[in-house]
Amino acid sequence: MRFRAAVLRSYQDPFTVEEVTLRTAPAAGEILVEIAGCGMCRTDLAVRRSAGRSPLPAVLGHEGAGVVVATGGGPDTTIGVGDHVVLSFDSCGHCHNCLGGAPAYCDSFASLNLFGGRTEDPAALTDTAGRALAPRWFGQSSFAQYALLPARNAVRVDPALPVELLGPLGCGFLTGAGAVLNTFAVGPGDTLLVLGAGGVGLAAVMAATAAGALTVAVDRHPGRLALAERYGALALPVGSTGLPERIRKLTDGGARYALDTTAAPALINDALLALRPTGSLGLVARLPTALSLEPGTLDRGRCIRHICAGDAVPSLLIPRLTGLWQSGRFPFDELIRTYPLADINEAERDCTEGRVVKPVLIPERTHH
Ligand SMILES: [Zn+2]
Ligand SMILES: [Zn+2]
Repeated sequence: MRFRAAVLRSYQDPFTVEEVTLRTAPAAGEILVEIAGCGMCRTDLAVRRSAGRSPLPAVLGHEGAGVVVATGGGPDTTIGVGDHVVLSFDSCGHCHNCLGGAPAYCDSFASLNLFGGRTEDPAALTDTAGRALAPRWFGQSSFAQYALLPARNAVRVDPALPVELLGPLGCGFLTGAGAVLNTFAVGPGDTLLVLGAGGVGLAAVMAATAAGALTVAVDRHPGRLALAERYGALALPVGSTGLPERIRKLTDGGARYALDTTAAPALINDALLALRPTGSLGLVARLPTALSLEPGTLDRGRCIRHICAGDAVPSLLIPRLTGLWQSGRFPFDELIRTYPLADINEAERDCTEGRVVKPVLIPERTHH
């Protein structure tokens, strides 16, 4: 079948929206989804900085959501044609961590999601000249009208929900909310520091507020700090003098948890100093350089760890987040601005320049 997709052909050039051909129907365990909307995530844009690691040309996009239009059946597939689904990261389902309920730490996470996918046929998706496009990004490649993916990556959602807006629940919002609800399991009276009030950070703020915790958010954009305040956080600008002391004062002696979305070494050091004894700092962003910690930052039982995809089992966390949204306590839709898929380059610009928290690209609908 032929459909339109945004193709990244070089690490420097804009995306080109062009016709592509999918040459295979869903195999057993796979589904074909008509994409209603796909969020743009930092990991999509980071491909431009990781030349050589992500093969090109490729169709990126890993926050897709839409409607199932075909399935290949198979014993594990409970998802059927017409179901509304949110797509998330891929995992093998049979390694130690997958079996232990931690698919974000799947032994094959990198190869399945970042470096080529599980498809045996590298020419499943081709451009009009017949040239193969890189295999499925995060198992889905959903900056497109359609995506072919393992049913394992898809989570069925209530068809009454606005499916075109739900894609970011599969990655960015899942990452922030999952760190708060799964990793830290914050509850009433807990204190959380959030560094960086982008999509991940603001989802963390919303989830912490919904859970009854006190949150302090730190960012350098006044507009993003205003959003953090709107969702219940106390806000401090980056560069405030004595940041750790100010945070300790606001949190009655130090935050119990901190979530860093910035990978900025100075802020990571400040965050550790703002933690109470035995407090935990979680990192979600990849560190660009070696991280050096000031003396004293890890004293008194403080710890630091990486958190991938909010420690989530997507089929458990996504319904929890849509439930919170329906009760008015996780208003993630307010962070979204929609763009036609054809305007993907404008969406990227607005995202990198901080004019939008979460762009969601809407492909043109086809009619069957
Ligand atoms: Zn992502
Ligand atoms: Zn696995």
